[in-house]
Amino acid sequence: MIAVLGSANMDLVATVDRAPGRGETVTGRDFTTVPGGKGANQALAAARAGGDVAFLGAVGDDDFGRRITALLAGAGIDVSGLAVSDRPTGTAHITVDATSDNSIVVVPGANGTVTELTDAHRAAVDAADLLMLQLELPLVLVTQAARYARERGVRVVLTPAPAVPLPAELLTAVDVLVPNEHEAALLAGVADPVEAAHALAGRGGDVVVTLGARGALRVSGAATTQVPAFEVEAVDTTAAGDTFAGVLAVGLAEGLEWPDALRRASAAAALSVQRPGASSSMPDRAEIDAFLA
Ligand code: ADP
Repeated sequence: MIAVLGSANMDLVATVDRAPGRGETVTGRDFTTVPGGKGANQALAAARAGGDVAFLGAVGDDDFGRRITALLAGAGIDVSGLAVSDRPTGTAHITVDATSDNSIVVVPGANGTVTELTDAHRAAVDAADLLMLQLELPLVLVTQAARYARERGVRVVLTPAPAVPLPAELLTAVDVLVPNEHEAALLAGVADPVEAAHALAGRGGDVVVTLGARGALRVSGAATTQVPAFEVEAVDTTAAGDTFAGVLAVGLAEGLEWPDALRRASAAAALSVQRPGASSSMPDRAEIDAFLA
């Protein structure tokens, strides 16, 4: 079983010709609401890929929260550890202009109330083979969860996004760190992804740096492995990294060897970038199998 402790948000996306300046009002072209948050996205990607998943976090007692909970439960995810908070469900207010540039206001809301490891969290981690974490919940909680999992011998996979300096207590409890190249550069303080990955692997454990259309690379000890991307026509790369991480976790939890787990993660991400949207673009297990056959 895979436990995912992370954020759940509703993305509120307005499409505009140009973003408003200070004090200005502009008329938008379109509006959509899309369930998101890195935690919920990774949980969905893992469940679609056939993983047995429990999602831990918080939503508000509101329509957004109920919609996210229904989406997760509908994918077969155990939501008994998803708390209902008195704060509103987290939202991301996104404005996308005609050149596809965006500006985003994130309001953590209920996500910000998950500040302490609860009995429900501990029970889920105890039952898990692997714990997935990101950095959209309070850092103290993420650190506490990683250390608890480490003590129990449960493998910890951390996507360090959004990138913030990581305390040593957290880094040393992580088995697999999965940054994209920008996060790797920020965390390591070096731009070259191979150098950054080696610097981050110095703490022990594996580092998998995703490189967009250029694939990924894995550093384990002194060894570096290149993971090629599949050549596809990308239409929307939203949540490619979350799809990659979720499917990688399923492979590792099922005991696949690293090359196989990475190949399945790359295939799933390549499938997801060919379709618009985040959760709506994530492939199921049969599609991943067919793509690799
Ligand atoms: P993030 O979304 O976190 O920034 P990346 O952009 O690095 O993550 O993408 C994650 C993974 O998705 C890559 O390692 C690769 O396997 C796959 N991917 C991303 N963009 C493409 C693309 N244009 N074509 C094929 N695969 C892609």
